[in-house]
Amino acid sequence: MSGRGPGPAGPPVTYLDHAATSPLRPGVAEAMAPFLGARFANPSGSHRLARDARTALEDARDQVAAALGADPAEVVFTGGGTEADNLAVLGALWARVGPGPATVVCSAVEHAAVLAPAGAAARRAAGHPGAPSVELLLAPVDADGAVLVDGLGELLGEETAVVSVMLANNEVGTVQPVGAVVDAVRRAAPRAVVHTDAVQAAAWLDVAALAAGCDLVSVSAHKVGGPKGAGALVVRRGTRIEPLLFGGGQEQDRRSGTHDVAGAVGLAAALGAARSARAEESARAAALRDRLADGLLSSVAGAVESADRRRVLPGHCHLRFAGVEREELLVLLDEAGVCASAGAACASGALEPSHVLLAMGVPAAQAAGAVRFTLGHTTTAADVDRALAVVPDAVARLRAGG
Ligand code: PLP
Repeated sequence: MSGRGPGPAGPPVTYLDHAATSPLRPGVAEAMAPFLGARFANPSGSHRLARDARTALEDARDQVAAALGADPAEVVFTGGGTEADNLAVLGALWARVGPGPATVVCSAVEHAAVLAPAGAAARRAAGHPGAPSVELLLAPVDADGAVLVDGLGELLGEETAVVSVMLANNEVGTVQPVGAVVDAVRRAAPRAVVHTDAVQAAAWLDVAALAAGCDLVSVSAHKVGGPKGAGALVVRRGTRIEPLLFGGGQEQDRRSGTHDVAGAVGLAAALGAARSARAEESARAAALRDRLADGLLSSVAGAVESADRRRVLPGHCHLRFAGVEREELLVLLDEAGVCASAGAACASGALEPSHVLLAMGVPAAQAAGAVRFTLGHTTTAADVDRALAVVPDAVARLRAGG
């Protein structure tokens, strides 16, 4: 996606940060527009305009369900991926069978939207003497960032309430063995609820097939070319969750709040378009990504690829540049118009080493030079050419102390 950046004087923009967010796919804004205009009604009402909005909402639900291999009644619309993850982890934990101690088992490389609510639940329980304990247990990963199923298995037991393993990692892009995780949980902790965060995977992988065995599945619209602030949690029939938001009882009492009809329509349109284009887009992105990664590995001495490319999403290129600080490199790239990222977008801008890289066994000093380039549906060969022209130069400047 090359073009001028904001302001007439900026350099041409090369956007390689699709894992942070992807621009709207063609047709998505058009699909949403009526619900920001004349078809504005609240779908919970009973008059003709409300019924019209309700029809659109339920059509969107049908499309989201089809894309995710779910029944429409299993789709809970949320305000994005973070809310879907929080609802999965906390909702399932609060609804667990039995009053005793509980554990939440996650891979060590989960997104903060999973780890933070689980950690908060554990802290809250610890702060109430006499309350049943809640413990967050982290399953180890291998050097590519894939969860070790045997290691996860050792953490499972009677007390396991929730297991959460993402379908693909947001930083390095590693696809997780979610099917094997489900099998291990069903054997060792049959009462546990299994959640997968499919937020990054949904643009590239067949979530319906890969997450078929999971009880809860999170997606986010803006990672697949839909609007920000819209997402969904699939809650399989028979899976109990407590709501996080109480009020009007929308979404079968699982998520109160007046529906964002435009957001739901945008999520449905983006997921549908991503599904239709998946095979072609994945092949195209993988070829471009390979050219980018191979080009940078051969032109920048000391550059290392963080994970085996055969195990990561087609759009992910995660590299470590020895001897440079990622923040300084990202500034130079930004000045040249290349938008990349350090991995997880962190609102605080904190410079802490990535928990994902540390869990993979990458020393903190090496993690400091890690940069994530992520390609997506708008990425062109010209974007890759430009990154190949800009990055080696920027690394050389930093290494020379410039
Ligand atoms: N889960 C993963 C794996 C993500 O990459 C993100 C976003 O970065 C989220 C959850 C949060 O999604 P949202 O931005 O829609 O809240």
